[in-house]
Amino acid sequence: MVALNEVPRRSYTDGATPLEHLQRLSAELGGPQIWIKRDDQLGLTQGGNKTRKLEYLIADALNQGADALITVGGVQSNHCRLTLSAARVEGLDCHLIVEEDLGPEGTALGPAGSNPPEYTGNFLLFDLLGANSVTVLGHGADLLGEAEILADKLRAEGRKPYVIPVGGSNPIGALGYVDCAVEMLDQFAEAGVDSPTIVTPSGSAGMQAGLVVGLHSAGSNIPVIGINVSRTQADQEPKIVDLVDATARFLDLPPVPRDATTGLGDYFGTGYALPTPEMVEAVRLFARTEGILLDPVYTGKAAAGLIDLIRSGRFTSEDTVVFIHSGGVPGLFARTQAFA
Ligand SMILES: *Cc1c(COP(=O)(O)O)cnc(C)c1O
Repeated sequence: MVALNEVPRRSYTDGATPLEHLQRLSAELGGPQIWIKRDDQLGLTQGGNKTRKLEYLIADALNQGADALITVGGVQSNHCRLTLSAARVEGLDCHLIVEEDLGPEGTALGPAGSNPPEYTGNFLLFDLLGANSVTVLGHGADLLGEAEILADKLRAEGRKPYVIPVGGSNPIGALGYVDCAVEMLDQFAEAGVDSPTIVTPSGSAGMQAGLVVGLHSAGSNIPVIGINVSRTQADQEPKIVDLVDATARFLDLPPVPRDATTGLGDYFGTGYALPTPEMVEAVRLFARTEGILLDPVYTGKAAAGLIDLIRSGRFTSEDTVVFIHSGGVPGLFARTQAFA
């Protein structure tokens, strides 16, 4: 077995992120006791779940002698911001290849320039943090293909690029959440959080896969419910399963049963990053009851899912839920129209 603490890792956060009991929100919804894991308070610029993945990915890049990072995402990608932030901390170059958003109703697929990004939110931060290049492509472009072309070009110039996939979601990145699962189990024991269900956004699935592997490897049967931000249940669950399998193999762990992976597809609306009324309600509710900002793309939609599961009786006052706040707040300031 490969022990997790023998895998090379950088450290970008001091200690554990807080686990907080949301008493006012729990009372307001009249259902389960709701706790929140504040991974929005992880290190690097404005925190968020990619920081945990990057601790392992950047260590791997440095071990391979990389001098430049290349990664991909949406124009408001939190993953791109945090990869760039890690590059600044490590003194590496960083190139970003991003795709424009879908049009307002999820229809306007098109060539570059169809939906030019506003100079705000994460897209502003790419500039402030001094990305070595930002290439904006039309929605649906082959981002990783472009990343490989750029990597070849840099290699031809004698550089050593390291390409990080969408969301940092490969077995190395997922290790960050294997680790987080163990961190949370300690916090549950200390805070007396008994038999909770974990509710988490599910996108490129590295966070959820890592959590599932981490809990399983620690002998815990705490369920994890993913709330999909871009895919139906039928499309998302195989992606989670594949990454769970690959991550377990990476650590030489026995396979995790398939029924440990759930990704609910009822809450993302018409497409990735497109606002829904339920997301707006959830963001407002967390802010008003707890002073906690969610983001409109991931945690806002996941919280909308949680609220619906409570209202529809899936969680009752007998239950305890731990909601993962995976970050993304800079994106809130790029989508203010949804709240107007
Ligand atoms: C990337 C991201 C997620 C989704 O995590 P995955 O590992 O891609 O499933 C959730 N929340 C925020 C804020 C993110 O940036």
